Amino acid sequence: MIQTRAPQSHLSDDELDQLIACPHCDLVYATPQVARNERAYCQRCHTTLIAPRRRAGKRLIALASSILILITGAMFFPFLSIGAGGLHHGTSIVQTSFAFTGMLAILTPAILAFIIFIPMARLILLIYVLVPIIQDKPPAPLARQAFRLAEDLTPWSMAEIFAIGCAVALVKLSDLAEVSLGPAAWMFAALMIIFVLTDSLMCRYSIWKSLEP
Ligand SMILES: [Zn+2]
Repeated sequence: MIQTRAPQSHLSDDELDQLIACPHCDLVYATPQVARNERAYCQRCHTTLIAPRRRAGKRLIALASSILILITGAMFFPFLSIGAGGLHHGTSIVQTSFAFTGMLAILTPAILAFIIFIPMARLILLIYVLVPIIQDKPPAPLARQAFRLAEDLTPWSMAEIFAIGCAVALVKLSDLAEVSLGPAAWMFAALMIIFVLTDSLMCRYSIWKSLEP
């Protein structure tokens, strides 16, 4: 059971260090002691506040590296192939994003940013922050800013949303043409699962604590 704190106007830095706010509903708690493999939940909205895991840093780096490899592959391998009337055409995500012309050309940088470059940037920043932590070394230069940026980029990282959108579109298209999935589609399916694993393993509170001077 964790205790909520009544609002106070004058708190010292030490007292502020002992507080944790729920990232979802902003309810403030006195930071509880949480052992490895235990979880502290927000009493109001049940968001996980602290969930330290054994060797989480190494596993997160492994998962993030796997996603980076899968996204790189998914950029260039055929995503799907569409056939009708005996003709088949396979295309990759990069080829598709450059297929827009006229006013729709503005979608090209947006697609590439949201489903490829922002997810990759977020994962590279996470690996940059975590490598010194798992080696028990001092944080990397600007590690706090790097982790904050990685967190800020999270809502803009839409690789998994793209994969779900494609799955819905494929169901609709299958009535009109013969649609088959290419290697890139399976890569996106795999990275969607790894994204979920990465998020469930990451204890943001533990990472912030590791980055304290
Ligand atoms: Zn909450």
